[in-house]
Amino acid sequence: MREDLHALYRRLHAAPELSMQEHATAALVAERMSALGFEAWRCGGTGVVAVLRNGEGPVVAFRADTDGLPVAEDTGLPHASTARGTLPDGTDVPVMHACGHDTHVTAAIGAATLLAGARGAWAGTVVFVFQPGEETGEGAAAMVADGLWERAPRPEVVFGQHVWPGRAGQVELTPGPAMARADSWRVTVRGRGGHGSQPHLAVDPVLIAAHAVVRLQSVVSREVGAQESAVVTVGTFHAGLKENVIPSEAVFTVNVRTLDPAVRERLLPALRRVVAAEAAAGGAPEPLVEELYTFPLLVNDPAATEALRAPLAAALGAGNVLHAAPRMGSEDFGHLPDALGVPGVYWFFGGVPGEVLDSGAPVPTNHSPAFAPVLEPTLTTAVTAAYAAVLSRLGTAAR
Ligand code: ZN
Ligand code: ZN
Repeated sequence: MREDLHALYRRLHAAPELSMQEHATAALVAERMSALGFEAWRCGGTGVVAVLRNGEGPVVAFRADTDGLPVAEDTGLPHASTARGTLPDGTDVPVMHACGHDTHVTAAIGAATLLAGARGAWAGTVVFVFQPGEETGEGAAAMVADGLWERAPRPEVVFGQHVWPGRAGQVELTPGPAMARADSWRVTVRGRGGHGSQPHLAVDPVLIAAHAVVRLQSVVSREVGAQESAVVTVGTFHAGLKENVIPSEAVFTVNVRTLDPAVRERLLPALRRVVAAEAAAGGAPEPLVEELYTFPLLVNDPAATEALRAPLAAALGAGNVLHAAPRMGSEDFGHLPDALGVPGVYWFFGGVPGEVLDSGAPVPTNHSPAFAPVLEPTLTTAVTAAYAAVLSRLGTAAR
């Protein structure tokens, strides 16, 4: 099976598709899952649901995300992507599986292959959810809105996993809040344009926005407790076309990450307060604050997470199942269990050889043009973890 999975991985890696445009990936996934005996259908545009019913027993769901990113691959691999795609705004861009979602699809199909081949060993129903558009935070919500859980049987738990630059062969579990809620805004500071030599006749939005950016950082240090977590990043700032022209507006975008809804409820109004107050201080009207997108908080059900430790340790070796602190990155996986109010568990698996990590050499992260998980033991670990997790919640076959 390993050679087949490697070939599948290389094929997926060479042909990544942008978020919500995963047409060829969806067709390939549906074909592979149907060939394994799953009932497969499209959902949420380019999503695929695949169900295998195997007698009376629990229903267990496993999710793999399928999209690539607008990144020009620079791995030097023989199966490197040269694919291109078109962003929703019409921009032609290179596309790469820079987040490793190709490993997720491969591992899910691997686990599905094992489950389909071991139908005598378990009872129940497995639901594989191949989700598009994770990178844009759209896909999980799109599948739910398209009736994912109306047509698929209701699972008692939803699992998912992600590759990251940890030690290949190991997985990391985080009970409770595991990945941050993300809120992104575009802030437009509206001033009054004028001549650079006569600022007293204008209202300078650059100065106001600059003060706002600086002061936004003080909200985390002064209004969030030292034992709490939050990140505020201003990632873009655009204003003006010429040094002696005061522009009429300045636009910046803010990204906010939190792990606790109570912290978020305090933080977001404080950020709005700072932006409005800096504008008032500069004599400008209240800035326009637009929400760009959000990602849900990802909370691993503590009991379901703890229950996975023993089967994962049995399958991978106890030393290969680690405990990890919450990450401030974000994921839309949470929408899938949350839509039903059932437990979800999402873990990470490493993709870097131990000797590379031990050498202290810099390791490319997810989204880097050089991100290239080593094939083994990465894929075998991901397949084994997915299979062991799903199997641990299914029933035993009647004999
Ligand atoms: Zn990503
Ligand atoms: Zn990802």
